[in-house]
Amino acid sequence: MVDAGLDRAFEKVRAILEGDLEHPGLTLYDLQELVGFPGRSDGPLSYSLPKDSSLEGVNAVRFFYYPKDPEVTLIVEVEDKSRRRHLRHFKWNGITWVAPRGFKADLTATREIVGGVEEIGGDFFLGFSRDEARELSEAIRKGEAVGAKYLLCPRDNTRLFYAPGVSAAGLPCPKCGNTTLLYKTLTFSAPEDRIEALIREQRALRAQLEDLMLFLKSRLGTAEPKDKTGKGDT
Ligand SMILES: [Zn+2]
Repeated sequence: MVDAGLDRAFEKVRAILEGDLEHPGLTLYDLQELVGFPGRSDGPLSYSLPKDSSLEGVNAVRFFYYPKDPEVTLIVEVEDKSRRRHLRHFKWNGITWVAPRGFKADLTATREIVGGVEEIGGDFFLGFSRDEARELSEAIRKGEAVGAKYLLCPRDNTRLFYAPGVSAAGLPCPKCGNTTLLYKTLTFSAPEDRIEALIREQRALRAQLEDLMLFLKSRLGTAEPKDKTGKGDT
């Protein structure tokens, strides 16, 4: 299905980056101005395009600038109305914006969702098809997904697993929007992963046991001996 709003947003981004009849294309210097670089030292720095009629069909268009990354200078993120993120990567070659090796940089709205975020079992998956994300989630649950890369949000412990083709730099936490995420890799020996899984299982078991106890008590009608008859002796 053609998403006309998404098409219009990509046209707008293309006009900004490549220029049109009225404006020259965005330069690296312009981008630095937009994000306020330098000033805040570490990247990525971001800038959201102000809403106008050409962007009514999407939630947001954001430019992320990476001052320190030798490969990717700019990531353009177009968030569509279904909250899916379409990412395009660019490198500044001194004159114009080009595609870094291995990345898409075409400025047309493809039907393929590059930055689609799936949420499964409390984890988020970026750059996977729905089936791939499901399989990975299952493997993670079983402790089999050794080597899977993810970003951990230190604020709310959200895990964002990302596909190999996805540049993880500067991705925001899908829950709280925090862009200062920690790079992690699943390992068997990562105690926090195992312990977290154990704690989750234990919590579920305890809840089941409590439910069972309540059920049994109600079925047996056991009037518990009331031992809280206040022994008010002084
Ligand atoms: Zn978060």
